[in-house]
Amino acid sequence: MNTKHLTVNALECPDCGDFIYSRTRHDYHYCSCGSVFIDGGFDYIRLGGRGLEKTHKLWEINLGDKTKQDLASDWNYKNDRLGTIKNCDIHKYEVKLISEKTPTETPSKETQVVRSLENAISEFQKAVKEYAAALDNPLLKELKNRVENAVKYLEEHDEKDRTKKSKGKA
Ligand SMILES: [Zn+2]
Repeated sequence: MNTKHLTVNALECPDCGDFIYSRTRHDYHYCSCGSVFIDGGFDYIRLGGRGLEKTHKLWEINLGDKTKQDLASDWNYKNDRLGTIKNCDIHKYEVKLISEKTPTETPSKETQVVRSLENAISEFQKAVKEYAAALDNPLLKELKNRVENAVKYLEEHDEKDRTKKSKGKA
């Protein structure tokens, strides 16, 4: 890395798309829509604001020949030419994604059931393989009955569901 170049950690606002960075330790810097902020300058990174726990991106931005002093004076004299990079201008900079938080969706009840069945099936297949050498084991026969009953139950349930639906349509 070229040490002549100053890099900053910048937060991309999920709402307005601004890239914001804290110019000095006490620059508590908001994006233009006011949704999120970044604080801490070069000492630490503190992020905050609306919806941040759900989704956000943190970037490292190369500010080229800018110095920490430039950033500090910009904050100090309230010039505010630095600290915010508009989304439409970000292509002018060299950037690197540091971390990304994407929304995690809660799986539906059906998906959860399917997943737990898939787990059960793969556990079952493993067990069957282990016991394949002892097929006349009474425990295995009992297990086979239980599985067959479960499948029968599902088939009946499915049948009822279809009958109910077709009656509902009629
Ligand atoms: Zn914003």
